[in-house]
Order: sequence, then C-alpha cells, then structure tokens
Amino acid sequence: MPVMPALHSAAWVVPVSAAPIANGAVVTAAGKIVDVGTLEVLSGRYPHAPHRHHTGAALTPALINAHTHLELSHLSSLSRRPHQGTFTGWVSQLIALRLELGATGVAAEQAAIQSSRQQYENGVSVLADIGNTDLALGLVDIYPGRLLSFHEYLGLTPQSLTKNRDRLALEPATRLCSGHAPYSTHPALLSALKKRAKRLGQVFPIHVAEPMAELDMLRHGRGEMVDFILVRTGEEIVFQAAIGPEEGSIHYLYRLGLLDERTLCIHGIHVSDAEMTIMADTGAKVCICPHSNHFLGVGSAPVQRYLQHGILPALGTDSPASNPELSLWQEMHLLASAPDAPDAATIFAMATLGGALALGLDDQLGSLEPGKEADILVVPLDTTADSSVSTAADLMKVLTSRPRQALNQDSSSQHTVSRIAL
Ligand SMILES: [Zn+2]
Repeated sequence: MPVMPALHSAAWVVPVSAAPIANGAVVTAAGKIVDVGTLEVLSGRYPHAPHRHHTGAALTPALINAHTHLELSHLSSLSRRPHQGTFTGWVSQLIALRLELGATGVAAEQAAIQSSRQQYENGVSVLADIGNTDLALGLVDIYPGRLLSFHEYLGLTPQSLTKNRDRLALEPATRLCSGHAPYSTHPALLSALKKRAKRLGQVFPIHVAEPMAELDMLRHGRGEMVDFILVRTGEEIVFQAAIGPEEGSIHYLYRLGLLDERTLCIHGIHVSDAEMTIMADTGAKVCICPHSNHFLGVGSAPVQRYLQHGILPALGTDSPASNPELSLWQEMHLLASAPDAPDAATIFAMATLGGALALGLDDQLGSLEPGKEADILVVPLDTTADSSVSTAADLMKVLTSRPRQALNQDSSSQHTVSRIAL
C-alpha cells in the first residue's frame, strides 16, 4: 500500500542546499523527503496530503555535531573556570582529573547519556564521537539519533606500536577507529589506521593543527609538546624534524598517505594556503570547534580561507572538558560574532551539510532535498507571528544567533526546537 504523503509548512523552509523559501513547505512520506517548495505550489501538487502548519518557526535539516568526546562529559569542571596556561597544561589537568574520577563507571556514563540527550533535544541528530574507552559505543543503541563511535588510538613508542597493531588487528570490521593526533600517535600506527579505514570504507578522523606546539614538534623536533611527552612517558624518545620549517601538519599527513575524501581533520587551526590546496585536491574534510579553541586559547580556525579553497568545514563542540556550553547553536553564535565571520547561511550550512559531507552522510542528511531522510527541525523564531522575519538574510541571522535562553530549556519551552512527527 503506498504511504500517504504529509505536507508541513512554515513561514520559512531552509533547504541549505538552496536559498530559504518564504511560505515554504516540505512533503514527506515513509520517513523520506518527497518534495520541497512553496506552500502554494506543493499544496496544489499534493491536494490530499494532510497539512500541518508550524507557526512562528523555520523548518531546517537536523544538526550534525562532527566532533565530541562523550566519555569526557563528567570532566566538565575543567571548563567551568577560564583556562590560563598552556595546551599541555590543560592536557595534564585532564589526565589528572580523569585518573581521580575514573575513565568509566556510572558517573561517567550518566554524564555522557545526559550530554547526548541534551544535544538531541536541541536538534543534533548525528554525533561523531571519539573515545579511547568503549563508553560511547555502549550508548549507540540508546541514542535516539545516529551516534558514530570511533575508537581512538594513540602512542608514540615502538612498544606501544606493537601493542596497538595487535589490538587493531582484533577490532571487528564494524568498529570505527581514529588516530589521536600527529603529536601523540606513531606515524606507522596512523598509516595502519588509515589503511584499515580505507579498506572498510570508513571515515578516519584525526585531531590536526590544534596547538602550535604540534607544529614546533613536527618542524623542529622540540618545544612544549616534546618536553611534555618526554616527562610523561619517561622514555628516551628521539624526536626529529618531520617536515620543513615552512610546512605544516597537513604536509605531514599527506606524506603519510592519510589524506583523502574520507579523512576528517579536526580543528585545523594552523593551516596554510598551501596545505588547504592539498586538502582541496585530496578531498580531505575539516571540522572546526570554535568554542573549545577559544577556551584553550589555541587560536581560531581560518574559516574564510577554507571557504575560499572550496572547503565547507563541519562544526563540532568537542568535549565539556574544553567547552563550557556543549551546543552547536552556541558554536554557530560564536562564529557569527567573530570579526571575520562568514555569512550566516554559510555558518548554518557548516552545522548541517558540512557535517554530513565530513561524515559521508550527505546522501541521507544535511539538507532538505527529495530522497533524503525527513529528519526536519522545527526551529522557533521566537515570535508569535509568521511575518516578523522578513528576509532570508534576517532569517539566517536569527538561526545562527539564537539567544542562550533558548538553548537550555526543558522540552515544553516555546524556545525549544522540535522535530516534525513522521
Ligand atoms: Zn577532540
């Protein structure tokens, strides 16, 4: 029996892949989008479809958070006060607190469940999560959206390389895996991880060019990161320059054969135009995490330059250990408030289509287009009338600067986003 299509309309429909549609509508059937257009056209095309109008709202694709660490949710006290000091100082605090509170256990699990639930209720349907325990893997079946749980590998010493290779060989083919960062993960291990991901057709995320100390280490074999690693491991590791003095982390990954359209470079702050050309040529993706970067004082990702190179970044929150407000809406707000902010439509595209592209889900999610999943948000425009947001540009500004009060409400609040019922 054919499924009856349903017609949803609102003052604005935001397809993301096309310009916002005033007095727009979306037709859905069997969980998929069938048609997108103006209400006038679609009500003529589907005269018998049940019609629901969402007053004072915009219909948009669900959001995609392309970088989290749910297993660190119980370490939120680290971001409650402003961070002063170095990146490695923060890493030391993180390790110490995790040792004190435990990496897993009931408190860690409850905090992770709460964090993921809050994000889902705020409109995030996909979480790309990285963890070095199985905590997030245990949440995959209870998360109402899609939780991609990546098992993170790290270790620089030859001994750890052997151990990690053995462990990797035992991973089931369904397990997603990631490498931590160029400064923390043996190049041979990174190569093995990417090779496996490629063979299995999986996305390969890696933290790249987050602290400047990574560049000092790769360029000169010395600096804050090297000092930190030597003290921490207590090993006699010999560091050498791995790239030229003008080169960066992307050159390093490129020479290791790690870059292709399924590689997701997380943070990507200290990246030159020459490196962006490599990223564009290989199809490598980037996920930026503005709030975490701001909190840690590591700089801010050059979003405008990525866009100039034809790369639409994804957006991520990172973890509560470096982000006091785990909200993709806040990430958009922060980007929109930056002096060199991209236009609001691009920022919204980063939080939706950018994430879908980065995670290889763009055939299913990220925009409102026929054939994609009907995972559609009803975003209140904080107005009772349909007419108070009069232009598409105003609409996108409203969507990318939603007031803080709208973000932490219970689900009965008029400010809270909801999803259209299927
Ligand atoms: Zn991270």
